[in-house]
Amino acid sequence: MRVGIVSNDSEKSVALVKQFRETALQAGLTLDNKNPDVVVTVGGDGTLLSAFHRYAHLLNQVRFVGVHTGHLGFYTDWRDYEIEELVQSLVRDKGESVSYPLLDVSAIYQGRKEPAHFLALNESTIKRLDGTMVCDVYIKDEFFERFRGDGMCISTPTGSTGYNKSVGGAVIHPRINALQIAEIASINNRVFRTLSSPMIIPTDEWLTLRPVTSEGFVLTIDHLTSSEKNIVELSYRVAKERIHFARYRHTHFWNRVEAGFIGANKQNDL
Ligand code: NAP
Ligand code: MN
Repeated sequence: MRVGIVSNDSEKSVALVKQFRETALQAGLTLDNKNPDVVVTVGGDGTLLSAFHRYAHLLNQVRFVGVHTGHLGFYTDWRDYEIEELVQSLVRDKGESVSYPLLDVSAIYQGRKEPAHFLALNESTIKRLDGTMVCDVYIKDEFFERFRGDGMCISTPTGSTGYNKSVGGAVIHPRINALQIAEIASINNRVFRTLSSPMIIPTDEWLTLRPVTSEGFVLTIDHLTSSEKNIVELSYRVAKERIHFARYRHTHFWNRVEAGFIGANKQNDL
């Protein structure tokens, strides 16, 4: 069993990584960041996102495990005081795993032959900051609507609790293989009209956005941002690749959602 470690640089995470390394080596595990079987992340959901992109070329062989050193995360099940137990689970590993859907983004640029491909774990957004983004939306290559507004957020089921939720998208159970498109501040009046509600697209369909102007866009893939010129077309589908997690124990998705968003503020007496 080769174990890779990715962490953020908070004091707590750094100390925990030190403890994890020592415990893992004592238990006979091999630490290998180049060619790991399991990648342990220490930090938050953002740390897991970074690890996902770092090991995107090894998705078929790598399983992830998240330890959180801040608040409970959506990708991070293990607590800071459970290092010993985690190491024992790694030692006894029988390949337990669960996998979740990813988002495939393909971008066609003016003057470039080949489209660029990106893989997102949470979501991809396209936004225009200096003016209204105008783009045509196609589903399965058929024209659906002309969108005017700040941008669009296209997310995975596990990403549905991230940015997507902030822009009014639905929380989707990650056993559902689908992608979701949610509007970011669409303009709707007597002249301009969009559906104005999120849409959920199945695996055998795809979504295409064609910006009407090609300048001034920001494209995000999870935590990564780039300024874009010359975008002709963006297409989104549920990716063939999936992310695998080492599932040594199971937290029910809706329990996680409740703990992440409702928690102690819950009012039972209303
Ligand atoms: P960040 O600014 O730390 O992320 C914002 C918050 O989103 C953090 O609390 C982060 O948790 C949490 N988060 C990340 N993935 C999540 C998920 N799948 N479900 C629920 N919460 C999630 O930046 P980051 O850590 O690099 O994460 C990038 C992500 O932040 C993006 O993929 C996007 O989903 C989200 N985001 C949200 C907004 C918004 O809601 N307006 C704007 C930009 C980005 P941790 O603190 O544990 O990292
Ligand atoms: Mn973060």
